[in-house]
Amino acid sequence: MTCDRARELIPLYAGRSLSDLDRGDLIAHVVGCEACQGELVETVRLAHELRAAFAQLPSLPKGTWISVVARTLGTTLLRVELGSEVAGLNLAVGTTKTGVPIRGSLSILGREVPVLRI
Ligand SMILES: [Zn+2]
Repeated sequence: MTCDRARELIPLYAGRSLSDLDRGDLIAHVVGCEACQGELVETVRLAHELRAAFAQLPSLPKGTWISVVARTLGTTLLRVELGSEVAGLNLAVGTTKTGVPIRGSLSILGREVPVLRI
């Protein structure tokens, strides 16, 4: 492994998202490369400090994420489903930051076919 490749992988190692194979290759390189050892130690130390700092942040008020999702993606206010597993009609009224979309679809044998979008 080259030092450049090791420097690409070190942040992933510190973030605990490196595959087992890449982790093994990285460690094998770092054992024999003093420059990358220093980089690895410093990056792992920084990642540890960041995790500790985030752990000390107060938690978000209940419902914050629902609010964020409603503002960005919209939320369903009303959903009506009629029918059976073979065929049915779905009607949904939602809200987004740009309006109140109404969507309707038919479900036929478990497959949903959009038929209305206002
Ligand atoms: Zn190196």
